[in-house]
Amino acid sequence: MLIYNSQNHRKEEFKTIEEGKVRMYVCGPTVYDQIHIGNARTFLSFDVVRRYLQYKGYQVTFAQNLTDVDDKIINRANEEGRTAAEVAEEYSQAFIDQMHRFNILDPDIRPRATREIEAMQEMIKSLIEQGNAYVADNGDVYFSVRSDHNYGILSGRNLDQMRAGERVEVNDQKRDPFDFALWKTAKPGEPSWPSPWGEGRPGWHTECCAMIHHYLGTPIDIHGGGQDLIFPHHENETAQAMCAWHTALANLWMHTGMLRVDGEKMSKSLGNFYTLKEVLDKYSANAVRLLMLQTHYRSALDFRFELLDGAEGNVERLVSCVKNLRWAAKNAAADGKLTDADRALSAAVKEAQAEFTRQMDDDFNTSGAVAAIFGLVNTANKYLAEAGSTVETAVTLRAADAIQELLGVLGIDLSKALSEDELPHELVDLAKAHAGYEGDDANEAAELLLSARQEARAQKDWGRADAIRDGITALGLIIEDTANGARLRQSKKA
Ligand code: AMP
Ligand code: ZN
Repeated sequence: MLIYNSQNHRKEEFKTIEEGKVRMYVCGPTVYDQIHIGNARTFLSFDVVRRYLQYKGYQVTFAQNLTDVDDKIINRANEEGRTAAEVAEEYSQAFIDQMHRFNILDPDIRPRATREIEAMQEMIKSLIEQGNAYVADNGDVYFSVRSDHNYGILSGRNLDQMRAGERVEVNDQKRDPFDFALWKTAKPGEPSWPSPWGEGRPGWHTECCAMIHHYLGTPIDIHGGGQDLIFPHHENETAQAMCAWHTALANLWMHTGMLRVDGEKMSKSLGNFYTLKEVLDKYSANAVRLLMLQTHYRSALDFRFELLDGAEGNVERLVSCVKNLRWAAKNAAADGKLTDADRALSAAVKEAQAEFTRQMDDDFNTSGAVAAIFGLVNTANKYLAEAGSTVETAVTLRAADAIQELLGVLGIDLSKALSEDELPHELVDLAKAHAGYEGDDANEAAELLLSARQEARAQKDWGRADAIRDGITALGLIIEDTANGARLRQSKKA
């Protein structure tokens, strides 16, 4: 399988450090507010990377931090008259809640910066001892970029060609403008921890690097984040690891393209953002995932709300195909005899599975993978329309299972949408009244009612046929005529 390594600017054959095992880390959010859908795109991309690696049989250990101490958190706390810890706790929980709603798997390890101070201080001490960091007059500790001959290796930058102020903070405590803070002296009222360099707090770049080393060991197999993190964040992470432990931080660096609005990167600072929460209040997680996955993770994704309406329709197509397959399977005579149509559907299932894997093996080409699933859906729909009541149960069920399984690898879960269609129990009473039913199963009752209505119509007993239909519609159901006979479904809620 090929994965694009941003460090080498090419797709490389994926090789794990330990046979069959993948250790991966994705930088988590700074918890000072709800995350926006640009952030969510990056987290989604790596959720799918992880799910696919698991599908391929790898044992994946996935770590993601929460940056719960930072200027943005402190500023928000000051504005609201709360402690930084309270703000961080609220938005850590909010982040986790939205990740669950978005069907993103929990990381195996979710370290919080404020609880990992010791590991960070160990790393900083080692960098000072080895001459890669210095303590400034005010007690800040800085990494000395000039001490690291490899600095720039990840982003392909050369220190002498870089301009000061370019994405790095300039201040008079630094020896070189590109030096970055490993430890920051606390200002009054800020959260702080004791250290050999005085009361202070860790720098952002220090956090991820120390936690990776502590929880996963270096180098790890995959390190991920958005493309905007390549410089300076990931450059600085890798510089610290090389200097502190003389190992690469990661064998493979993966970076996601930016989600944009009107051609501009979605970001808090530009104010052009939608929170994941507000989007999931209006649209299903399945639709948002489907839309995002139809663009390759390394490409920019231009977001527009109308696209989500389309995606919702596509999810509906998936749901109704699986529903129709399952329904047809239930009503088919399982005679085990395969027609040409059955054999063609069987072959289409195998081909879709193989194509899905081919696409995903090519640097997680999710849009190709989605196309493979829709190809199978089209074939299945045609099969149902043409095979009518002669469908073969096992083949039909296999197609439904395959569609759901492949979607599951993309974290698109149809089970809830499928179960929402369960028929109401009141049908039992209706079937008792109109069709002499004596059991207690809504599905059986439905079938009996439909055949009773059919019979009444055949006998031109319009009164009885209408009474049955009215009883059914009063329960919020509609009678749908399909190639496989009539059936009941929930009428769309307004
Ligand atoms: P932050 O909290 O800003 O560090 O962002 C968390 C993650 O979201 C990082 O991996 C960023 O690279 C990523 N990210 C931020 N903005 C966008 C965007 N517009 N599109 C995609 N990913 C983004
Ligand atoms: Zn990081």
